[in-house]
Amino acid sequence: MATTHILKAEPLTRAIRAIVKGTGSTDREADLVSANLVEANLKGHDSHGIGMIPRYVDSWKEGGLTVNAHVSITLDSNALLKLDGNQGYGQVMGYEAMELGAERAKRHGVCVVGLTNAHHIGRIGAWAEQCIAHGLVSIHFVNVLSRPIVAPWGGRDPRHGTNPFCVGVPAFPIEAGKDPVVLDFATSKIAQGKTRVAYNKGASLEPGTIIDNKGDPTIDPRFTVVEPYGAILPFGEHKGSGLALICELLGGALAGGKTEKGDASRGRQVLNGMFSIIIDPKKLGTAENLAQELEAYVAWHTASPPAAGVSHVKIAGEPEREWKKQRLAEGIPVDEATWNEILASADKAGVGRDAMENIARA
Ligand code: NAD
Repeated sequence: MATTHILKAEPLTRAIRAIVKGTGSTDREADLVSANLVEANLKGHDSHGIGMIPRYVDSWKEGGLTVNAHVSITLDSNALLKLDGNQGYGQVMGYEAMELGAERAKRHGVCVVGLTNAHHIGRIGAWAEQCIAHGLVSIHFVNVLSRPIVAPWGGRDPRHGTNPFCVGVPAFPIEAGKDPVVLDFATSKIAQGKTRVAYNKGASLEPGTIIDNKGDPTIDPRFTVVEPYGAILPFGEHKGSGLALICELLGGALAGGKTEKGDASRGRQVLNGMFSIIIDPKKLGTAENLAQELEAYVAWHTASPPAAGVSHVKIAGEPEREWKKQRLAEGIPVDEATWNEILASADKAGVGRDAMENIARA
């Protein structure tokens, strides 16, 4: 049976922080990166949590990730901001972009933010949650510049990444800590990390999830993990595929950056472009209406009788809150393969695996 390490969020954050510091980051940068990654694990999205650290460290070693970078404002027109992420840690670029955008949205009612050239910005829900904390609605379209891994609907080979889409809607009053709605998903049928888990376990995938290197249906996850590569299918058939295309055009092109066109020279680097629209409901004069309607509609929506095997109808953002409660109490499970990769990255960042183990298990 495969070993699973159960680690508490606080020492694990300190351990990941040590690796980020090992890449030369300031205290602030190490705080932002480690807190963001561990939060993704707490929220149940292990594919975008601490398991990304080995890739970040490799990318840094290859020169694909720049430490201690900040966003550069390349266009500032009040409610329009164009930002260059300078290939810096995406956790810093996403944070800085949203702080700038939120301040503008509160001033002008809306802010459109185009962020390009950021290293992997992780879980997009984090950026919606940052806007929610400011009392703002936000919409995010994201593209990925890495190896293409998702086929377009009707196609036989991969043409883009898992291009996530996200919307955050606050529940007022914010101070009351009411549950917001956070819809945050990849436009692929399944996250790439989940195909790797199936491969490591020797498990099959559901039919209709991936295609092989010839473009034919397969349930063997190897075709998304080792060469010759196939592709993951888009979610929602032509509709999800269309949304992924829009993520390329908005998150890539309209934001001011590039679309994915299969550049094979990126190594371990993964860049994101994000096009965000941030809206202040107070300035729009609809905050009170939104608060009342959100509460009433969510109650109506979730009152639908649950289908067989379902405990209750949930709203987007609810599973992540449930995961967080459970994992804060019980710890974060980390599989052996992922933990070994993290320990190896601790070595590469000069922290050492023994020190890493000591901090993470303190
Ligand atoms: P997923 O399939 O788990 O879907 C998550 C969304 O569905 C959430 O909004 C969640 O609240 C909602 N949800 C889940 N179960 C629900 C239920 N029973 N009822 C109602 N709502 C429910 O997510 P995913 O597609 O695997 O994406 C995982 C993460 O990966 C996301 O945070 C995404 O932003 C991130 N991601 C990032 C990149 C990048 O390049 N930075 C690329 C792809 C994905």
